[in-house]
Amino acid sequence: MRIFIFCILLSVSFPVTAQLSHSDAANLLKNKGLEELAAYDMLKDLTANVGHRLSGSDGYEKAVVWGKKELEKAGADSVWLEPVMIPKWVRGNVERATALCGRMQYDLTVCALGGSVGTSKDGIKSEVVEVHSFEEVKALGSKAKGKIIFYNRAFDRTKVNTGEAYGGAVNQRTSGAIEAARVGAIGVLVRSMTNAIDDEPHTGAMRYNDSIPKIPAAAVSTIDANLLSELLHKERSVSVTLRLSAKTFADVPSYNVIGELRGTEFPKEIIVVGGHLDSWDKGTGAHDDGSGIVQSIEVIRLIKALKVKTKRTIRAVLYANEENGLKGGRAYAARERNHTENHIAAIESDAGGFLPHGFGVSTDSVRYEKIRAYGSLLEIVGADKIQRGGGGADISTLQSIGTVQIGLNPDSQRYFDYHHSNNDTIDKVHPRELELGSIAMSILAWVIAQDGLNN
Ligand SMILES: [Zn+2]
Repeated sequence: MRIFIFCILLSVSFPVTAQLSHSDAANLLKNKGLEELAAYDMLKDLTANVGHRLSGSDGYEKAVVWGKKELEKAGADSVWLEPVMIPKWVRGNVERATALCGRMQYDLTVCALGGSVGTSKDGIKSEVVEVHSFEEVKALGSKAKGKIIFYNRAFDRTKVNTGEAYGGAVNQRTSGAIEAARVGAIGVLVRSMTNAIDDEPHTGAMRYNDSIPKIPAAAVSTIDANLLSELLHKERSVSVTLRLSAKTFADVPSYNVIGELRGTEFPKEIIVVGGHLDSWDKGTGAHDDGSGIVQSIEVIRLIKALKVKTKRTIRAVLYANEENGLKGGRAYAARERNHTENHIAAIESDAGGFLPHGFGVSTDSVRYEKIRAYGSLLEIVGADKIQRGGGGADISTLQSIGTVQIGLNPDSQRYFDYHHSNNDTIDKVHPRELELGSIAMSILAWVIAQDGLNN
């Protein structure tokens, strides 16, 4: 009886939470995480038994079943699927490019960019023009008519954060076909989005504008981008034949996969942890974003194992279709507008399963300072660098309902060596680095679930 009264004095509605301090919780999460390295086992299973999982593919449907099962195994109080229509784009078997230069022929290693139209069976053939910016494309004017535009602006190697280098180059991939078609070009080749000099092409999303002709677009490996550039500097005329079998089908129905640990005091206050369940159809999406998926499931597993229920709800969302449409993120945000829940914070992991340095936070200065103060708890896993600005594509859709955006920031040096290519496989992931990311997310989710983010 005395214990009972003592508990009532501590906290009327849920006494047991008061028994675990933040630093005790952080230590328990760290020890269990590093002891068991379960995120890596999940990732091994996902990459081996599901493999790549582009929206609209059988792989994605398998991933939905896999994600639901893993969230149940992790001990979520409830697990469910939420329907969403997603795009279906299929690469097909043919992606070939040959450079013709005098009497010499060079096969270029290419792959279709995601969303590209295909070519006819014989492909397109034309002279190539190298550019480094949209200004150069514009300046070509009528000289671009009937040509293949070759975008060859490399990553800025002086950027320490490779995400910034990606940001400085990626418009060639996303909008290059639109800008080239605007001046009458018939196709584009884009230097792969990576600092690595190798023979792997890196795919990724590109878009069209309905009022401008849709022309085929392919990524070329950095080795062959350098070769093509060299040929163009030596010879007056280089032409390329490009054949792609890519095709877009009608959207198909699928799901976001969701599981949660329900809060005891404020169950309608939600902290989302998440990543995207889809991947490109190259490699097995081990870093992008298999890592974010298994880390999010691991948050549920680790916090469940504390055997202390949190005051607020922690919800893992495995988003559909981040790579070529963001349909999962949009559907989740749209459904939220019709709910009475309050999404106070969302933590996304979508920058690879590398050693975590900390988190990037997008919110007002009061809440930012509150999260920054948790840096000292995150020191035990070396993830104490809390910076302004950050989040993730999937959770960005929650910005409109005022959710604090938080992105896990792992080391960025190797990410784009693998990103969207055949290089993105399990052997590039280190079990302890991956787990440290899960633990960092768990600690942050735990403290926000206990303390909230107001005052
Ligand atoms: Zn991603």
